[in-house]
Amino acid sequence: MDDENDRLAALERYDVLDTPPEEAFDRITRLTRQIFDVSISTVTLIDGHRQWYKSRQGVDVAETDLSQSLCQIAVVNGEPLIVEDALVHPTVHNHPAVIEGLKLRFYAGMPLRTPHGHVIGTLCAADTVPRTFSKRDQGILADLAQFVVSELELRTLAMTDALTGALSRRAFREEAARAIGLARRHGTDLSVMMIDLDHFKRVNDTYGHRFGDRLLVEVISTLKANARHSDIIGRLGGEEFAIILHQSSAAAALDVAEKLRSAVARLRIEHVDGPVGATISVGVAGLDRTTLDIDTLLERADAALYVAKSDGRNRCIRWESPAQPIPADVRRRVLKGGRIAFNGGRSTMDCTVRTLSETGAGLDFISTADVPDRFKLLIMADEFSRICRVRVRGDRRIEVDFG
Ligand code: GH3
Ligand code: MG
Ligand code: MG
Repeated sequence: MDDENDRLAALERYDVLDTPPEEAFDRITRLTRQIFDVSISTVTLIDGHRQWYKSRQGVDVAETDLSQSLCQIAVVNGEPLIVEDALVHPTVHNHPAVIEGLKLRFYAGMPLRTPHGHVIGTLCAADTVPRTFSKRDQGILADLAQFVVSELELRTLAMTDALTGALSRRAFREEAARAIGLARRHGTDLSVMMIDLDHFKRVNDTYGHRFGDRLLVEVISTLKANARHSDIIGRLGGEEFAIILHQSSAAAALDVAEKLRSAVARLRIEHVDGPVGATISVGVAGLDRTTLDIDTLLERADAALYVAKSDGRNRCIRWESPAQPIPADVRRRVLKGGRIAFNGGRSTMDCTVRTLSETGAGLDFISTADVPDRFKLLIMADEFSRICRVRVRGDRRIEVDFG
């Protein structure tokens, strides 16, 4: 099942989980509900530990765990799941979504298949009364599911990010690849910086998401104002940015990073409670004979960024060659489907593994309320298992130490 990691990576590429509702997707679920005259339609995405709805009609909650999910069955099988009457269906008649929760009787889930063939979720139509669903109906639902995927693809094609004006991840990678080709041919230097805002979750939690957005816009314009015009700035994730510096060695790039860091640290954004500041951590890596592509370069800058984070944040670190290996407790960002087992293996819960190191991991759950202090973590795709002890417990995220 190495596919599960690839599948999650395909989902991650769209950068869509936990984003607000969008009209483009709501239009499709409204249409689905209307065409089939059913009470429920959703665009469901299957994360490592939960199903999350990008769009939902007739459903109250934003997400559920996977045990409640009929959509997951369609995703795992990679084919449509059509249940005309759940009560007499051979496999789902006693499914939680049928006997409790939404009490579904009719369900039709069409896989959302990416151009590379990964199934990331479903477009589904469902109801609390039985219904027939012809081959023709299936054809229509398949077309509508294709609209959903096209819409997701379109979003990645957009060259710039609407909020900050930075290049989208995809556009950044293309520009970066071109810049690296140029640097190689002409034997010039090139460096990359990875930038992540420090404790940004706290800013959102304290001042609200809207204020967080304003701060993000201010930080990126500070970065732009202090970088050269030729530098390429991309938004790789929520509050993660990368900059390609032409004709800069890693040492020169570290100086620039330091300039950016201190400019951001001086920033003050007005809030009714008084001015609010921000800091960034930066990882820097330079092109050399052993970095062949943008991915290696970004990985190195990212490793340095994580050292900057674990050294206390608000600092810039340059990637050093393997003579100085990354410390064992530095977390790599990963995205893997996991499961925890406790009660002597009688109880299990799904989770998404977001960070991983030799000594511990960061795990996301729908809710951490029922997670015990000690459990066994399994990453099925990697045949990985470790005994874990909870170190930090949030509502949805847990940090664990192994052993
Ligand atoms: P750290 O110092 O370790 O980076 O802490 P952090 O809180 O910044 O943690 P992390 O980088 O993991 O989380 C980033 C948070 O940024 C998560 C998300 O709520 C928030 N975020 C991501 N994108 C946006 C956005 O576009 N707008 C706002 N307001 N918040 C965002
Ligand atoms: Mg951050
Ligand atoms: Mg981040």
